[in-house]
Amino acid sequence: MSLDLAATVAAIRAVVGPRPGPVGLHEPWLAGREWEYVKSCLDEGWISSVGAFVDRFENDLAAYCGTARAVATVNGTAALHTALMVLGVKPGDEVLVPALTFVATANAVAHCGAVPHFVDSAPDTLGLCPERLRDHLERLAVRGPNGPVNRHTGRRLAAVVPVHVFGHPVAADPLAEVAAHFELPIIEDATEALGSLYHGRPAGGLGRIGVFSFNGNKILTTGGGGMLVTDDASLADAARHLTTTAKRPHPWAFEHDAVAYNYRLPNVNAAIGCAQLERLPLMIARKRRLAEAYRQALAELPGLEVVPEPAGSRSNFWLNAVRLKADQAARRDELLAATHAAGLMTRPAWTPMSHLPMYADCPRADLTVTEDLVRRLVCLPSSAWLGAEDGPEGGR
Ligand SMILES: *Cc1c(COP(=O)(O)O)cnc(C)c1O
Repeated sequence: MSLDLAATVAAIRAVVGPRPGPVGLHEPWLAGREWEYVKSCLDEGWISSVGAFVDRFENDLAAYCGTARAVATVNGTAALHTALMVLGVKPGDEVLVPALTFVATANAVAHCGAVPHFVDSAPDTLGLCPERLRDHLERLAVRGPNGPVNRHTGRRLAAVVPVHVFGHPVAADPLAEVAAHFELPIIEDATEALGSLYHGRPAGGLGRIGVFSFNGNKILTTGGGGMLVTDDASLADAARHLTTTAKRPHPWAFEHDAVAYNYRLPNVNAAIGCAQLERLPLMIARKRRLAEAYRQALAELPGLEVVPEPAGSRSNFWLNAVRLKADQAARRDELLAATHAAGLMTRPAWTPMSHLPMYADCPRADLTVTEDLVRRLVCLPSSAWLGAEDGPEGGR
């Protein structure tokens, strides 16, 4: 059965409702106490990288994820970079990352002077596939003095960074088994998955370190921002030190003991984050309602299926997506063009990292599933307020 472009566009439009102007892929919802909290920063002069909202945002997010500690950062990429550094990723190491991700995951590895090593995804979770990772490592890894080594390149395999794509949790338990077998620490790129649950456990709290982004397009936004969460106090302390120019605490002296970073989140942004976090349960409920509306509206249409949440998981449905049937893959760009023409800002999945010029020579596993998913996935407008009568101004 072939894709019916007109019916598909009409079904998406019926879900999002009549809106003036183009419907963005993901727009913020700032209907809580954002204004009030930002105003209090401005009134009191606490606008920079120290302040009560930073502490509160860190504490509240750690509590939300069930981790002991949290360290706020200026964006999600900085949090990933910091997580890799505190776990000891060094220049010349390799880090296993999915080819199907936003470029920041690979960039953070490169910022360490390390090399991203691309691995394949699973069709059900869209995230890193534990079975395919195991097969790949069984062929690839040999034991070295400081952990597993890539037998072809001689480089140490230092970590694995699964990504919860579009908010859908990866198969975290099978992945943890594979990682433990090969002595690889896991850094969760949970940048898209705040509020998602894997067998009842919050995304971000499943690995040694979890990382979030609060970029303008994420489910919770601080304008720009990020967070690293962990149960390990020494990793959290190291992350705080590295993100604060490695300044040793002292009432007046500037003592720094490492080349480090200015990666701290300003209090103004944290203020927005505190207000957003108060409404996160509502935002997730709205997004799940939107996902259900898409599922019903698109269920009977030929040539595509809605990407469901993985079994055992509860997704935040950061982005809703449809997957074209295999024999309709060649029509992806027609669907993108038809939706855009109708003012619906759909997007394809990312170009696989292995195709990008700066990563074209990086080591990789077989990426058959990634290539197939990228040909077939189309992301739909997913703002939390879509489909509600009140729109982005609503719920104030
Ligand atoms: C958003 C995102 C990031 C990075 O976040 P920034 O805050 O934009 O730096 C990293 N990985 C993935 C998968 C993302 O979607």
